[in-house]
Amino acid sequence: MQSFDLTPSERQELYKFTIDFLEKYYSDTKSNRVSPRLDISEIVKEVRKVDFSAPLTSKEALKHLVEGMKNYSVQTPHPKYFGLYNPRANFPSILGDLITAVFNPQLAAWSHSPFANEIENYLIAEFGKKFGYSTESIDGVFASGGAEANLTAVLCAVNYAFPQFAKSGWFGVRKRPVMYCSAESHHSVHKAAKTVGLGYDAIRNIPVRKDLKMDLEILKETIQKDVHDGYQPFLVIGTAGTTGTGAIDDLPGIRKIADDFGLWFHVDAAYGGAAVLHPDLKPYLNGISLSDSITFDAHKWLSVTMGTSLFITRHKEILSETFRITAEYMPKEAKDLEIVDPFTHSIQWSRRAYGIKLYLALMIFGWEGYEKTIRHQTEIGEKLKGLLKNSGWTVMNSSPFPVVCFMDENYLDNPDFTKTVIKNIIDSGKSWLSIYPVFGKPTFRACITNYNTSEEDIEALVSELNEGREILESRIKNQGTK
Ligand SMILES: *Cc1c(COP(=O)(O)O)cnc(C)c1O
Repeated sequence: MQSFDLTPSERQELYKFTIDFLEKYYSDTKSNRVSPRLDISEIVKEVRKVDFSAPLTSKEALKHLVEGMKNYSVQTPHPKYFGLYNPRANFPSILGDLITAVFNPQLAAWSHSPFANEIENYLIAEFGKKFGYSTESIDGVFASGGAEANLTAVLCAVNYAFPQFAKSGWFGVRKRPVMYCSAESHHSVHKAAKTVGLGYDAIRNIPVRKDLKMDLEILKETIQKDVHDGYQPFLVIGTAGTTGTGAIDDLPGIRKIADDFGLWFHVDAAYGGAAVLHPDLKPYLNGISLSDSITFDAHKWLSVTMGTSLFITRHKEILSETFRITAEYMPKEAKDLEIVDPFTHSIQWSRRAYGIKLYLALMIFGWEGYEKTIRHQTEIGEKLKGLLKNSGWTVMNSSPFPVVCFMDENYLDNPDFTKTVIKNIIDSGKSWLSIYPVFGKPTFRACITNYNTSEEDIEALVSELNEGREILESRIKNQGTK
């Protein structure tokens, strides 16, 4: 029987093959197309051509896997991927993932993986301080992503507002609960409302002002009306760096309204939270320290591999109140030590150690390394805005972050313009960017999400955009003369 360990010499050989392939890909990402040609049937066929009743040699299997990943993925690590907040993963975080896989620590109970657990506690404490919470009050838990962290926030807010919820659920709640977020907030908030059994109707999507921030006048009026109509407002979510346009809500203003009406105030800083590591950007997050809880994704701007989000709160007891459960079969050491078991703090039970990769990256780069990287990306973002303006594009958002929504104003009412230009660029394999509607009109959205993106890369992007526009313009002219 073949041991699942394989033999030491096979392992050496496979490690070497894998590392050689990955190193070539990692150091030379730029030589690939940014996006694959999306032929669904070809991809499905490629995945299914292996038959598990006739196993491959380990070398064949590995080759099939890494080549498939290379050929059939949008290359988010590519410096000309200007897309969503999907970074190139920094190298320490990649090693951190490998180390995590080999030790495979179980983070349900503290006593099984004390070192990995204390790494996460340390990171929660350090980031809590960076966000301005006072040291004694910081608590939190790592989550798989911003969606889970936001769901954790909604659950905490529910348990805070309705202390009997843990026992009797919604059946013990008399008035209909409602929560508030801006129309630009991330849809994971809606998913959370649906998951906790409130449904979409419990969400008030507050319109944004011209600057794409939540309109606090409307927020206040809506809450007043809801109170008057017999609803029970319990939560308001501000966003610090919206997914679409990088807008930052007026956090101190939201705090005040939350206090007036006794609401939990959560800040979704999944992307923008990184700004606290940069002295020039930090002031834009003013007021985040006044929140009750924060979502922050390290797998976005901090460029660690996927599955690393932090939920941080300044209410020490709320996570236990929300997730505690008695489980007789779990290791009991926690009872005698001054520690908490993560399974009493998290939606998850068996849990991967998410913190290790962030810990390794921070040990190697330090806060200073992150500050420099964030500065570089912000500068490239500012340069991109300048280049676009010079070429007759109008920037439609005003984020201090390197997220740029732009349009040629001559085509504002032409719904095909963005689609056609973007399709040409993506099909060419040279760059990847997205479309995002600003006040209902499609715009181009380019984000400097990769720390390796250089001036040369953004110059090339602007040329590709200009070319796309020229092609379209001449096509329109030709149609006119026909
Ligand atoms: C990306 C994002 C999320 C969702 O986070 P995941 O890590 O993708 O689960 C939530 N909120 C905001 C503002 C985001 O940008």
